[in-house]
Amino acid sequence: MEINIAAARKKINEKGFLDVNIDPSLDLFHEIERLKKEKNAVLLAHYYQEPDIQDVADYIGDSLGLAQHAAKTNADIIVFAGVHFMAETAKILNPHKKVLLPDLKAGCSLADSAPADLFSAFKAKHPDHIVISYINCSADIKALSDIICTSSNAQKIIESVPADQPIIFAPDKNLGAYLNKQIGRNMLLWNGACMVHEIFSLEKITRLKMRHPEAKLIAHPECEDSILKIADFIGSTTQLLKYAVADNANTFIVATETGILHQMQKDAPEKTFIPAPPDNACACNDCPHMKLNTLEKLYLCMEYEEPEILMDENLRVAALKPIQRMLDISKAAGLGG
Ligand code: SF4
Repeated sequence: MEINIAAARKKINEKGFLDVNIDPSLDLFHEIERLKKEKNAVLLAHYYQEPDIQDVADYIGDSLGLAQHAAKTNADIIVFAGVHFMAETAKILNPHKKVLLPDLKAGCSLADSAPADLFSAFKAKHPDHIVISYINCSADIKALSDIICTSSNAQKIIESVPADQPIIFAPDKNLGAYLNKQIGRNMLLWNGACMVHEIFSLEKITRLKMRHPEAKLIAHPECEDSILKIADFIGSTTQLLKYAVADNANTFIVATETGILHQMQKDAPEKTFIPAPPDNACACNDCPHMKLNTLEKLYLCMEYEEPEILMDENLRVAALKPIQRMLDISKAAGLGG
């Protein structure tokens, strides 16, 4: 087994995780609970993780809630079941804690759509603008930003900036366009998008609405404008969950990543949740990055404490400033996580 682990460690960057066999008789739920206690580890999971991971997590949330939890945890180890930029954010907030990610290759198409060199050149062309970046970006982009936001707090963050101050908003053009419309601003938008939210099919959703006239369409603001225009409610992942539970309707067509349907079904078992179909052969819309994490990889990363998120200290300090501003503004605005 030792040889097996040593060989797997050498390949961790290539594979993204420790590729070792697990005893098939192990109860992974029990093992993960045991490791959490033994190592004083907290398991934070995003709503887009597979149901098994959500069920074993200490906290499930969207980007804002996860960042707030990461900022206040007393655990020695933070195990982040999400994608790379989320675990990186936890590390930025907790330089002295060990932050683990089940699969290092769990990236994000939206974060990748803003390469730091191109964004830096874009920013240099607009020196009078401040930069507000959506949390779905790399630490390099965070370091080039003045304030970070999430879809839960974006409106409050933008409204905290004087109306005559020009703003660059990055990296999501759909969220930026939606916010411009909502708040009446004219932010300059970076041309990035999320591969999951930009491929919902207007045609298929319209047909679905005709088959379920009683259903309400609820959508994440990362979706394209054509989908948002026909939505009954638009909100962050947490806001969509709260709305679906509290609203009088019994059927909802959900235009965001399908992982959230697990919590919706748990919180409102009597209601029906239909995933909005994308413009391809699939019936629902999974984020391939989020779904790289599995219960097996989660167990392995907790057992062997790898892969670990490590980062340059200068970059960390530069990226911390705009995140801290976001957390402070959110706290002042009463946006809890
Ligand atoms: S759903 Fe989109 S924004 Fe979220 S992690 Fe996946 S690619 Fe990134």
